[in-house]
Amino acid sequence: MPGRKNYVFDTVNLQFRQHRRNWSEKLTRFSLFLVLSVCATLIYSLIFHRFFGSPKEELLQQRVDELKLSYTLLERQIDLSSRTVAELRSSDNSSYRAVLDMPQIPSDISEGGAGGTNRMADLNGYMNSEMMMKVRSKFEDLRTQTNIQYNSLTELSVRAEEWKDMWEHLPYIRPVNVTMRLGDGMKFREKHPVLGSPRWHFGQDFRCPEGSEVYATGAGTVEYAGNQHDGFGIKVVIDHGYGYRTIYGHLSKYNVRRGQKVSRGDFIALSGNTGTSTGPHLHYQIDLFGAHVNPLWYFEDGMTEEEYFMMIDFLSGP
Ligand SMILES: [Zn+2]
Repeated sequence: MPGRKNYVFDTVNLQFRQHRRNWSEKLTRFSLFLVLSVCATLIYSLIFHRFFGSPKEELLQQRVDELKLSYTLLERQIDLSSRTVAELRSSDNSSYRAVLDMPQIPSDISEGGAGGTNRMADLNGYMNSEMMMKVRSKFEDLRTQTNIQYNSLTELSVRAEEWKDMWEHLPYIRPVNVTMRLGDGMKFREKHPVLGSPRWHFGQDFRCPEGSEVYATGAGTVEYAGNQHDGFGIKVVIDHGYGYRTIYGHLSKYNVRRGQKVSRGDFIALSGNTGTSTGPHLHYQIDLFGAHVNPLWYFEDGMTEEEYFMMIDFLSGP
């Protein structure tokens, strides 16, 4: 500062005297001033950047925030999709698999989760590694679960087709109008009405007047139509597959030929009184893998005549 004078206390003379700085002192003071100024600038700059940041840093921070938000939204979507897949799995196990008589998917498989930390190694070392790993892990679990469900539903669809085919072929209706009264069922006859000797009756008789329409009780192939003189008189035999065969006996006329494909409800014959029979009736028999089963187990009896004929019309088609 020009004009400013420095004084020092002279301990020898016991009085103040004027002190003139030499060049060395001036240089030292200037250097000190310079160092302090640089330090102050650095500290100021650090504090400013700490709290405000440069425009470029702010832009980068904004992008980081956007990415974090995207990750959060993605995670939420994955959670929702996982919940949908879980509901699908639950229906799969409790409904579809139960109805189609298939084993349930074990929970350790269906919950997926092909784990391992190695697959995440490339995500190590980033500022948001944990978040990225969590989202990727969830996504991979979802992908595994979706694949499992896809395979399961494909399997179910194949099984459903098999069941549909089986349902169409099995003998599930009455062979005659529901108003026809039932005759003898499966039982041991002490005395056969014609032969007089004791023997088993392996079918269900229907007391229908001669000429009543007889229907195929399930889809299949006609194995025989004619009279083999084996006691059944004129008979039709249908092979339904799945081990099932139905026999319609004591007929007056048949309407199908050997090898013909028939559907459930198709008109195949007229009832009669041929063969070993004491009066007009239809003998209906179901064999399963060669063993005789009770036809009464195979059809519901609660239908009205009108409902039955509506069903026959529907099954026989146009
Ligand atoms: Zn019979």
